[in-house]
Amino acid sequence: MSIDNKKNIAILGSTGSIGTQTLEVIRDNGQLFKAFMLTAHSNAYLLIEQAIAFMPKYAIICDETKYAQVKEALAHLPIKVLGGYEAIKETVTHPDIDVVLTAMVGFAGLEPTINAITAGKDIALANKETLVVAGEIITSLAKKHCVNILPVDSEHSAIFQCLAGEQDNKIEKIILTASGGPFRGRSAEFLANVTREHALKHPNWVMGAKITIDSASLMNKGLEVIEAKWLFDLEADQIDVIVHPQSVVHSLVQFEDGSIKAQLGLPDMKLPIQYALTYPNRIKTNFKRFNFIDYPNLTFEQPDMATFRNLKLAFDALEQGGNMPCIINAANEVAVAAFLKNETGFLAMSDIIETCMQQITYIQAPSLDDYLNTDKETRIFAQNLIQQMPLKAVRS
Ligand code: NDP
Ligand code: MG
Repeated sequence: MSIDNKKNIAILGSTGSIGTQTLEVIRDNGQLFKAFMLTAHSNAYLLIEQAIAFMPKYAIICDETKYAQVKEALAHLPIKVLGGYEAIKETVTHPDIDVVLTAMVGFAGLEPTINAITAGKDIALANKETLVVAGEIITSLAKKHCVNILPVDSEHSAIFQCLAGEQDNKIEKIILTASGGPFRGRSAEFLANVTREHALKHPNWVMGAKITIDSASLMNKGLEVIEAKWLFDLEADQIDVIVHPQSVVHSLVQFEDGSIKAQLGLPDMKLPIQYALTYPNRIKTNFKRFNFIDYPNLTFEQPDMATFRNLKLAFDALEQGGNMPCIINAANEVAVAAFLKNETGFLAMSDIIETCMQQITYIQAPSLDDYLNTDKETRIFAQNLIQQMPLKAVRS
């Protein structure tokens, strides 16, 4: 807590979609929050602009080739500028930080989050890959250090909100809603020829490139199923997915008596971000309000797991447990990066993930080192696989 009683927030990934929206929430609630630490991977310009506007104690650029540029631009200000991933991992434990909002993308979020939990920081978790890769380690560390893991992902925030006041009531199941992405209802023949430009056009949400591709392939929902398992201590058969193209019902909880609670609202990540920062309280906002009259048809349908195989693969990985979710995460990160560079096709992403699941060494009870090694091993394997795939085969 700062001397003026504001919550000091560290934003890992402040230059991304979630990071910039978090800064808007902080700006709109300057009496409650202070941006204490901002980090970027390589977007030096935006990090500099944000640091000048928010005057954090620390501004950290992961890409060390950009360090001098950031350092020079902020030299006249009382901001400590650091460079490199190690600096993020260390600074996140600073005693003055109250909440760490993890909005980095991918596996890179894991180690800083572990360090933050070990230092007793509450985590506002956007970086779902952290829980997918090492959910068991993260949740048991959080318990040990008495820290809250507050979900930012809209579906998990919805469930978290539905569970308020229900501590002693058993969850029968949860229902995660999925928009279905830009290719909802499309056939495998159609998907064989889609490009990154098609896939980057999400109907309801504006997000970073990786999660947008994951949404188009339904891997995002697969990752969210695994994330939900760990956040809410559920078995795979207690997690349902339903496609809801309007993205108004953000998710639902069904209790033992059959009652279902849902959380609704317009699709806007600022609400779950703010709830994670103000939890257990709510504060007034001027966000646009949802009106039923504007949405006379809220519709629901089964996800097509035969065409969108990634969702099925994620359920399989959850059933198998151990390092399997870590394997699918790493394979998916490599596949998505390749798809974004036009080096692989949309459907081939599932082939890459499935082959990695079959070929990478399975470990039933992995340690943190095992996860780090699995991630490395899978990335190398997936990369080689992509290079061996003829581009023609990859695209069809
Ligand atoms: P973006 O790609 O928009 O932003 C990612 C941020 O992380 C940027 O600040 C980026 O820096 C930084 N970053 C990327 N890679 C690394 C790395 N290897 N090391 C350090 N920093 C890195 O992603 P989003 O904001 O869309 O998503 C962030 C996380 O939140 C993801 O895990 C996503 O799944 C999750 N999430 C996002 C939602 C959304 O609406 N966007 C909704 C729910 C969850 P730089 O800008 O310099 O590249
Ligand atoms: Mg989500």
